[in-house]
Amino acid sequence: MKKICNQCQTEMIEDFKVESYGGITISKKGKFFLNATYGKPHAAVCPNCGCVIFYIDNYKDVVK
Ligand SMILES: [Zn+2]
Repeated sequence: MKKICNQCQTEMIEDFKVESYGGITISKKGKFFLNATYGKPHAAVCPNCGCVIFYIDNYKDVVK
C-alpha cells in the first residue's frame, strides 16, 4: 500500500532507516506502543514538501 503525503497528496518515498542514539518511544496511555519489542520504525519522506512520517511493518501485531 503506497503512502500518500497528508499535506500535498504526493506519493511518498518509503523505507528510510530510522536511527536514534537516544532511543525513540511512542506510547499511549502509559502503554508502550512502539519500541524494540515490536520492531524497528521506518520513515517515509515526501519528495514534494519534505513531510516525514514514521511507520512500522508489523502494526497489526501492535494495534489491537
Ligand atoms: Zn508532501
